[in-house]
Amino acid sequence: EPPTENQSDPMDIIRKFFLKPRDIKDDLDRFVIRQDEAKRAMAVAVCDHYNHVRRCLENPDLVERPYMKQNVLLLGPTGVGKTYLLRTLARLIGVPFVKADATKFSETGYVGHDVEDMVRDLVRSANSDVELAKYGIIYIDEIDKIAASGGQGKDVSGKGVQTNLLKLMEETDVNLVSQSDMMGQMQAMMEMQRGGKAPARTMSTRHILFIVSGAFTGMAEIIRKRLNTHVIGFSSGSESDEFEEDRLLHQATTRDFVDFGYEPEFIGRLPVRVAFDSLKEQDLLEILEQAEDNILRKYIEDFKGYGIELSVDSKALRKIAERAEGEKTGARGLMT
Ligand code: ADP
Repeated sequence: EPPTENQSDPMDIIRKFFLKPRDIKDDLDRFVIRQDEAKRAMAVAVCDHYNHVRRCLENPDLVERPYMKQNVLLLGPTGVGKTYLLRTLARLIGVPFVKADATKFSETGYVGHDVEDMVRDLVRSANSDVELAKYGIIYIDEIDKIAASGGQGKDVSGKGVQTNLLKLMEETDVNLVSQSDMMGQMQAMMEMQRGGKAPARTMSTRHILFIVSGAFTGMAEIIRKRLNTHVIGFSSGSESDEFEEDRLLHQATTRDFVDFGYEPEFIGRLPVRVAFDSLKEQDLLEILEQAEDNILRKYIEDFKGYGIELSVDSKALRKIAERAEGEKTGARGLMT
């Protein structure tokens, strides 16, 4: 059916993408506390990406020119806002978004899931709008678990999964109905028999933005060795250790990732790298006091459902932040 006049075409989001990094950063600031480097880098990467996509749609000749996609690698501990930042970003732009976990993939896809499942999930999250899904964002967490050696990598098939992911991140045509999806196969056949137009069978991943992340435990040690900074008589307080690790992770280079267990081609496809910082008591307090949609505001709303007005004074907030920090699970500790 042709869209009626007052129905907006979801693809307008892409065709009329004229946001500047500054606009995106300002929006992110309302939701995500701290992580300034990450917010800045992501705002730039996303703007570059969607500007390029828009220009490709305007001028198909551009598609044939070599272009390096701004796929992103995020480093950082759990609960510090990686997923939250990306979800917020995708929502602000209005593109479909999916999150997957690298540990569930196996090389062949027979045992675990195969990496192409993510593309099919993306189509689902775009309400089956294949055209829009082509410009979505795929976020893969726990990417450190598919390193082949060193670091935390234990999986011998890590290298195989890296190769499959590499193809996906670069460009490949993905079958929209999985070979192992009997229901999907049958539905597609019935659709055809009903005389409906044949649904798109494959989808290119050329313009999908890929973002991967991991905690990269052990990476700080690799970097420390490279920098050859022997820390003698270093205080063993856990807080200073965290600081030190944050500081080191900001300095990760391609060589460190190769030492960690990645194929150079794989890590080369992830040109933008950003380290997230661990959240300190003060940051956690700021989340409660300032971040839009934060957990305290959710509780206040929940209590309203019972006709109760919940108020928490600033001393109590500080206590919550202090205890949350002790949990060492980032902002998730606020809920605990
Ligand atoms: P991860 O880094 O493991 O992906 P999440 O982004 O899932 O962590 O964080 C869990 C929750 O904690 C989020 O849904 C969000 O509510 C809150 N949160 C985490 N980091 C921040 C932050 N920097 N600013 C505001 N809220 C945050």
